[in-house]
Formats: sequence, C-alpha cells, structure tokens
Amino acid sequence: MKITNVEAIYLRLPQVKEQCDSGQDALVVKVSTDSGITGIGEVDSAPMAVKGAIEGPFSHTITSGLRELIIGEDPLETEYLWHKMYRQNIYSGRRGIAIHAMSGIDMALWDIKGKTLEQPVWKLLGGGFHKKIRPYASSLFGATPAKTRARARRFRDMGFTAVKFGWHPMGQDEKTDIALVREARKGLGDDADLMIDAGLVWDAKTAIQRARAFSEYRIFWLEEPLLPDDYDGYRKLSEAVDVRIAAGEEESERRSYLELMDRGKVDIVQVDLTRCGGFTEGMKIASLAQDRGLPVVNHGFTTYINVAAALHYLNSIPNSFILEFVAEQGTTLRDQITKQRIVAKDGWLDIPQEPGLGVELNEEAVAKYRWEPK
Ligand SMILES: [Mg+2]
Repeated sequence: MKITNVEAIYLRLPQVKEQCDSGQDALVVKVSTDSGITGIGEVDSAPMAVKGAIEGPFSHTITSGLRELIIGEDPLETEYLWHKMYRQNIYSGRRGIAIHAMSGIDMALWDIKGKTLEQPVWKLLGGGFHKKIRPYASSLFGATPAKTRARARRFRDMGFTAVKFGWHPMGQDEKTDIALVREARKGLGDDADLMIDAGLVWDAKTAIQRARAFSEYRIFWLEEPLLPDDYDGYRKLSEAVDVRIAAGEEESERRSYLELMDRGKVDIVQVDLTRCGGFTEGMKIASLAQDRGLPVVNHGFTTYINVAAALHYLNSIPNSFILEFVAEQGTTLRDQITKQRIVAKDGWLDIPQEPGLGVELNEEAVAKYRWEPK
C-alpha cells in the first residue's frame, strides 16, 4: 500500500467572532492511499501555517513540505514516517507548527492502519485499560460568578460528575477569582470534581496565593496559571502548594514535555494529540510521564476527530483516568463535520470499537465550509 495524497483542508464558519471558541474553524488532514482507504486527522493550531507546512514544496534537504516526504511511502510505517518528517524539517520543525502538522498526518496514518487491519486504533497501540472513560465537561467560566454557578448546575443536571471552568474573567482581581471558584463549587455541589483552568494569567507568587485560597473549594487541579515557558515558576508553585498543577497543552514533541515534568514539576500532564506529534509521539510522552508517576489527560477543545483520538489514546496508556470533553453542542463546526457525534451517557463515554478512529468526515459539510484564500 502506498500514500497517494495528503490534503490539509481548512474549514471555517462564514462568520468567525473574536472569542475563545475553537469550534469556529478546523484544520482536517486527509491522507489517501492506492488501496482506496483514506485516513483523517486534525490539527488545532494556526490553520494556514499548518496547511503550508503540509502542502508546501520541497525547499531544502532539511526543510520540506510534509506531503512531499510521505507520498509513495507505506502508510503503515508510522514510526519511520514520523522520523522522516522530523529529520527532514530540522530547520523549520522540532517544536510548534511543524510538529502540529505532523500530528495531523500521524493521526490519519493510524486511522489508515486501523481500517487496513480492521482494528480500532487503541488495539493497535496495545490498549485495553478502560471499558469506558469518565469525561469532564470543559467550559469557559460564565461572565460572572453567578453565571458560572448556573452553568455548573446545568452540567451536573446533564449527568457530568466532573467539570472544568477556564479563562476569562479569571485573573482580573483576587475577589473575582475567588468568587468564580466559590460559585462554581456551589453550582456543582460537594460530590463532583472541579478543575480550574486559570488561562496563563499570573506570576508564580500570585498563583501560590490563589492555589491556597482555592483549596477551601477542593479543586482537583489548577491548570496553566503561568505562561508556558515559565518552567521555574511552575516548579516553585508546584513545590509550594498541595493542589495538583496541570499543564502541557502548549507543548509539542516529547523533549518539551520533559522540561515541563523535570524542571516544571507539574502533577498532571496534558497532551493534545493534534499538537504533540500525534499518537506516535503521544505514546512516548505518556511513557515518560508514567516513569515519573504522573497521570496523563488529553487536551481537546475542537472536533470529534480529536475526541475520538483521545478515547483511543487514553485507552492505550496505564496512567489515564479522565477525558476532557466539550459538553456544549450547537452550531459550531464540531457538530457538523463528522458523521458521528460522540455523546456522554450517564456521565461516561464508551470506547470506540470501529476500525481506525471510528469517525468519518461528513463530505457535504466539508464542501460547505471549505475555505480557500482569495
Ligand atoms: Mg487549558
């Protein structure tokens, strides 16, 4: 079997508002083969930069569009192809956009492998750790503490036993920060897990003060309180407080995760398969975390391609326990571009049993939302 084409398809709603909502656009990777099997993947990054990294031509022996490098290759050789793409983009790659682009390709290759061998991806990765996985409802804070409380109650009414709130208006002032967490806890009741995603808003000393103040409301983890490059700040914070510190969604490639784990001393390692280097790299990151006694959770705020990938991944590693899940449904691309929707039942998600990722593109929606520069 040989790879015959790699496409980076940018999908975008006609109107994209200036707000934190990654359901407004999506970068889907499609890899075709001469056997007729196609695989899909996703990249949550700067879409047109990723498209360039994938579809661009050869430029240099160590800088090349990824498509050029893998056309004609056997799609089942995932480890070899990962290293070929990495090695031939040393100038332009190693972290960031190039690794993000490789993530989408790697995901699509594993989808092809699963469809070819007629097995779900998690089985090919050697998994089987879960029969089902508990999702946490992942949401932005309400505009006010009271609105956050109402939102928390709604997620509990939907059956979720864990909820995360994040980003604005956290970080404005101490009183509001504490009120947001207090009201979130009130809305959830005592017996649900509450995670807080600060959204890169503090320095280490402020984060230590907030983590101590939030402990009264029994938060399960405090996520990304500091800028991602402040590894020494993460270490100070982590060593000063009891609450678990979570981070990792900004990282790509395992060596940046090593920095976060060994220098930053985080407690929970967050892996976005659409950015970290795909399944091939994600498995190595999980193994490095396992060696350090650290749990791994997915990061995902985009389409069901990423959610499906996370289900396969978390079912393939021993140090997994919960899955990030966007519970809101509505008018975003997420609900339209795949034929399948993944929904929680009684507070749990089933492990996919179909070959490959188990999600397929809705080609009508792809045609409708495909965006090209004018
Ligand atoms: Mg986050």
